Amino acid sequence: MTRFIFITGGVVSSLGKGLASAALGALLQARGYKVRLRKLDPYLNVDPGTMSPTQHGEVYVTDDGAETDLDLGHYERFTGVASRQSDNVTSGRIYSSVIAKERHGDYLGATVQVIPHVTDAIKEFILADLHDEDFCLCEIGGTVGDIESLPFLEAIRQLRNDLGAENCLFVMVTLLPFIKSAGELKTKPTQHSVKELLSVGIQPDMLLCRAERTIPESERKKIALFCNVKPECVIEALDVDTIYNVPVKYHEQGFDEQVVRYFKLPVDPKPNLMPWKNIVQRVREPEGEVTIAIVGKYTSLLDSYKSLAEALAHGGIANNVRVNLKWMDSQVFESPDTLHHLEGVDGILVPGGFGERGTEGKIRAAQFAREQKIPYFGICFGMQLAVIEAARNLGGVPGATSSEFGESDSAVIGLMTEWIKGNQTEVRKSNGDLGGTMRLGAYPCEIRQGTKAREIYGADSIHERHRHRYEVNTTYRPQLEKAGLVFCGMSPDGQLPEMIERKDHPWFIGVQFHPELKSKPLDPHPLFRSFIAAAVQKARLV
Ligand code: GLN
Repeated sequence: MTRFIFITGGVVSSLGKGLASAALGALLQARGYKVRLRKLDPYLNVDPGTMSPTQHGEVYVTDDGAETDLDLGHYERFTGVASRQSDNVTSGRIYSSVIAKERHGDYLGATVQVIPHVTDAIKEFILADLHDEDFCLCEIGGTVGDIESLPFLEAIRQLRNDLGAENCLFVMVTLLPFIKSAGELKTKPTQHSVKELLSVGIQPDMLLCRAERTIPESERKKIALFCNVKPECVIEALDVDTIYNVPVKYHEQGFDEQVVRYFKLPVDPKPNLMPWKNIVQRVREPEGEVTIAIVGKYTSLLDSYKSLAEALAHGGIANNVRVNLKWMDSQVFESPDTLHHLEGVDGILVPGGFGERGTEGKIRAAQFAREQKIPYFGICFGMQLAVIEAARNLGGVPGATSSEFGESDSAVIGLMTEWIKGNQTEVRKSNGDLGGTMRLGAYPCEIRQGTKAREIYGADSIHERHRHRYEVNTTYRPQLEKAGLVFCGMSPDGQLPEMIERKDHPWFIGVQFHPELKSKPLDPHPLFRSFIAAAVQKARLV
């Protein structure tokens, strides 16, 4: 049967619980176990899809088309296990299902309450869609003490009784702040957080303590005594220079060993962490460096582009170079004489985005990349805007725009109202709901022979993940081809342009999907590998 590890957080938010869960998943995998990772988010949105990325970070999309929390990206990158809709739930989704059942009359006259109806729905979610996994790691979003997380904590408390303590482990991630004037790491906030968790009936079995300094033995013992855990279950989690070192560091601290001991599983053989060590080595000792400008709108919160930043780093790992990211607000390029900020970069990337603000700046950045022969990678919105640029400046469509910005008779990018998913037709209206209605998840794409895209993928049929409402309008195909754009990837029915490239440029590729979502440190995505290789080429030429 599947064993459950519940990961909660105390003291402050942003402790990297997601990363901690992902790294523990990778360690258990390296010990030969099959894992699944899940995230339970206490907020009331049904999913993060309608939230601004500057609020809650990137929206991570799964193959099966769920819009999920960015932590699922960490899980996939560290374990390679593809996440599913059933791996992320929010209070909003739980309450919607409970209320729908109530309206349907499924509760047979009962008063519908948080306990047991909401908590039962949470437990059902945790236990659903598991098959032969040895471990299911469930991260509870938020910080212990938040009002919203109470039903989730109550549900996992009950589950430990339902499934038996031998099948459930509680890990709490906490912070030991370092107080400079005292020269000490402080344990009191951790003690208080554990107390808070105890007040809802949960005694953590293990504490993962984030700290900037080594935890002295005396402090470890103190934490163990006051928090009622074994000293060896107080795990030190120091800051690291690269996140790919986290599994190795946790292992050195005995995290995975204590976990398998808890479940009475064999401690030996030790996991093979060579693949992670190799990555760390490559990150620490690159043979060169390149600078990539990312021209976007959500640069105030870098979590908005989490997977993208990671995928670029993976491209660097594959090419043995450090990738310096130059985050640039696209609106800068809307003022005259600003393009010089892009001089000297080895590649320009325009990522996904929504809405008109800042688009003229992105279009100018795409034009600059095209004219200066700087490697250009346009992702989703970045492809659409590169198409608009080509249509305006080379294709004889001076008013080219996207219908996302309003009605126009030159909508080179238009609203998608109908498309095929599997063997079904999806239909949308322009005034429909915004939540969960984009073209979402994995779709096939066929790549034309003789194109750069074909060479990069080494395959003629691929699957990539989508999240968009608009698409290149193929009625403009003749003008766009005249403008030098090659339609190198199309949906199998030939209706939807998925990839474009230019023949008159060293590396100019736009993709309608999000390749960054599938890149992994142990398996860098071919497009990022190739883009960084082109940037290396460019850097060596100048
Ligand atoms: N705003 C564009 C669309 O909806 C692009 C979306 C994106 O970049 N993810 O089609």
